[in-house]
Amino acid sequence: MDVTIFGSGYVGLVTGACLAEVGNRVLCIDVDPRKIDLLNSGGVPIYEPGLEEMIKQNRDAGRLSFSTDAAEGVRHGLFQFIAVGTPPDEDGSADLQYVLAVARSIGSHMDGYRIIVNKSTVPVGTADQVAAAVSEALRARDAEVEFDVVSNPEFLKEGAAIEDFMRPDRIIVGTDNPRTGELLRALYAPFNRSHDRLMLMDVRSAELTKYAANAMLATKISFMNELSNIAEAVGADIEKVRIGIGSDPRIGYQFIYPGCGYGGSCFPKDVRALERTARGLGYKPQLLQAVEEVNFRQKDLIFNKIKTYFNDDLAGRTIAIWGLAFKPNTDDMREASSRVLIESLWAAGATVRAYDPVAMHETQRIYGERPDLVLVDDAHSALEGADALAVLTEWSEFRSPDFHAIQSRLKDRVVFDGRNILDGRLATASGLTYISIGRAPMR
Ligand code: NAD
Repeated sequence: MDVTIFGSGYVGLVTGACLAEVGNRVLCIDVDPRKIDLLNSGGVPIYEPGLEEMIKQNRDAGRLSFSTDAAEGVRHGLFQFIAVGTPPDEDGSADLQYVLAVARSIGSHMDGYRIIVNKSTVPVGTADQVAAAVSEALRARDAEVEFDVVSNPEFLKEGAAIEDFMRPDRIIVGTDNPRTGELLRALYAPFNRSHDRLMLMDVRSAELTKYAANAMLATKISFMNELSNIAEAVGADIEKVRIGIGSDPRIGYQFIYPGCGYGGSCFPKDVRALERTARGLGYKPQLLQAVEEVNFRQKDLIFNKIKTYFNDDLAGRTIAIWGLAFKPNTDDMREASSRVLIESLWAAGATVRAYDPVAMHETQRIYGERPDLVLVDDAHSALEGADALAVLTEWSEFRSPDFHAIQSRLKDRVVFDGRNILDGRLATASGLTYISIGRAPMR
């Protein structure tokens, strides 16, 4: 089948590559000419495990191509996927300008029936707005062409995006037109083989399902973080509590890890957008507000622990940071906890020496060159001349470090573990002070 994808970011590129992988002819469109030039010259603008090889194979096979030409995109695909960003507006609601710009482009160039498939995370009612924008653009050129707008929210996780797309837990398709539903079922058939995971529903329920999933996951994290602070206050160990509660199958072990807050391009903005939608309709979303507030506070936790440890005197100190991406296996730094720590350390007069396996370029892009940010090529170099180490992303390569090497390099021999991934007993046996989340410091 012929498929066009508007937006060549994390979701658009993974969707495009995976749809091409199963034999479709896919054209990916983006407004950013640098991204398209890079893709056309064999590069990939983001880091996602396995993506570069999959793009290369499908480009070489002639099934995947890239362009900035929206008109060509609209001509190409029966399916017109929208996978552009929906960043938070000033008031926290989702900014739909990019989604609606694509809708207008489609309406301006469409010459036959198209299925417009919205993959971006958008508030309930957006499909109606997309349909209105397409109709208006059609009217402006006196054209009468049929189209359908489908809600098909994406659930992939950065870092495991290809696996998630190829073997999804569920494929949500929101449409009021059974014929369109069947066409999407056919498009998704290669990803839906072992048992039926495609869930057809009305458009509004599909739109809300995405927000409900992210809000639920964010709630689990904030719940555990709230509990970790209580555990610390009462002298309990949150990791033991986690193991204790996870054994109840109604709770389960997944996604109940305490830490220094959630970040990324989805949870923060989606919780805020859902909260905003509810408020706009006169409903006070108390739980969502608390989820957001707990997370906000949690992102300051490691900084506060460092500040307390150094008696409020961070001026002139150097703090090593391992992990900058908001989670492992991605270079995405959007709303990452590391950014809150780095900026707080700077405000307190400290210098940061940082290392991340893949997010160094992104960090440089965000902060540019500055004397109080030293980006180094490996984890051990980050420790040189540093007073303390903070671990902020649970990359595998940080999990079992050489504690003696850490101890011998740090001036103050203290490690702050924002993800509770290190073995505190081994750390202290090497002469380090170990400070983590939701339990007493170990010396
Ligand atoms: P992204 O910022 O990585 O990519 C968006 C791309 O759209 C950019 O390359 C941008 O240049 C392009 N773009 C903007 N306007 C355009 C236009 N008019 N025509 C063509 N391209 C245009 O964003 P993303 O992380 O891929 O997220 C896209 C959407 O998917 C968002 O709504 C997000 O909430 C949702 N989502 C993201 C994830 C994730 O893990 N990143 C997972 C599920 C859903």
